[in-house]
Amino acid sequence: MPAIIDIAPAQVASATTTKLLTRAELDAYDPESESWQKQFQRRYTHHSELKGVLNQVEDVNETVYNKFAIAVTPYMAQLMDRDDPKCPIRLQYLPSFHEETKPGFATLLDELGEERDTIPGTSVVHRYPRRVLFLVSNTCATLCRFCTRKRMVSQPTGSVHKDEIERSIDYIAANKEIDDVLLSGGDPLTFADDRLDEILGAIRRRAPHVRFLRMGSRMVVQLPTRITPELCAVLEKHRVQMVNIHINHPKEITPLLRQRVKMIQKAGVMMGLQTVCLKGVNDDVQVMRELFMQSIEMGVRPYYVYSTDMVEGAHHFIVPHHRMLQLYEGLRGWISGPAVPTFIVDGLGGLGKLPIIPQYVKEELLPDGTGTTVKCRNYAGKTVEMPGLGLDFALPTQSN
Ligand code: SF4
Repeated sequence: MPAIIDIAPAQVASATTTKLLTRAELDAYDPESESWQKQFQRRYTHHSELKGVLNQVEDVNETVYNKFAIAVTPYMAQLMDRDDPKCPIRLQYLPSFHEETKPGFATLLDELGEERDTIPGTSVVHRYPRRVLFLVSNTCATLCRFCTRKRMVSQPTGSVHKDEIERSIDYIAANKEIDDVLLSGGDPLTFADDRLDEILGAIRRRAPHVRFLRMGSRMVVQLPTRITPELCAVLEKHRVQMVNIHINHPKEITPLLRQRVKMIQKAGVMMGLQTVCLKGVNDDVQVMRELFMQSIEMGVRPYYVYSTDMVEGAHHFIVPHHRMLQLYEGLRGWISGPAVPTFIVDGLGGLGKLPIIPQYVKEELLPDGTGTTVKCRNYAGKTVEMPGLGLDFALPTQSN
């Protein structure tokens, strides 16, 4: 096998001599006018820089930067409301004083227990019997304040070395029961096309038992021009079957995003949507209905709504589970069935993904213990009770 040449995403980020855009320049800026790499270099990385283009930016303590960096692409800055600090895009990406408080969360850096389930020497998290999570990058175009992988994303200690990537592919190749590989990070699309081509090619060549190869990325949302015909050719060449994108608010769905989603779809790739339920951003039935209907209109299937993980600096985004149940009930029956995602809480310490599901049908034992009754409730709150089949119900045998 040819050695994998490392073209680390950091390479894109390090050449930061490019000038930041002023407000006037941002207003006139066309994200299609320059390469995605150039836009990556133009990211705002300090709240004082963002103060140059937005009003009412919080003066957060510098200690915030010790825990999690800031990065905002010019395209994302354009989507932010210039004056409203409660803008749902600003809330996702701008640091707030809330991150400096809540000591109880200070140690929860890997609350999903991913490190425990990582195969030593690799970046493969092998938790479920047949599928693996392959963390290839520790960089994203824009950094989300609620990121569940703050322990590695944007951290110098979190970078995934090329040897680790090679050993990860060795592991996937050697374990023939693995038939589902999810590339994530960070964002795998921060890699240059030729690097991605090598990684995907190595998986396909060395692990023919992998039946489902998929990727999680937020690039199409944060830096849509990353989606190029060349990238789509790489996805098609290696039969990447699914790309899951991450959108939290309908404001993030722009004409440019729609155009780039279509390019990915034309490469024969299924697309799914994942969303994080975030207080102040999308914990609202109307917002969620609109988001999922717009998504399904684009042919992107809403897949999961995650509860915010209990990572340090993200507690102010957490929506209680009972509220998540209410949000789910505001979708089921009220919008198209295929537009309703599964609501998920990731169990603390590596329990895995647990669906949050309201109960619509409940079978109860009759008071005399002779059978059961089934109590049903529909999406609009109407109820009906049906006879149960009884405890010793058996199909009648055919009589001749
Ligand atoms: S895009 Fe995903 S991995 Fe990257 S910062 Fe946001 S939540 Fe974290």
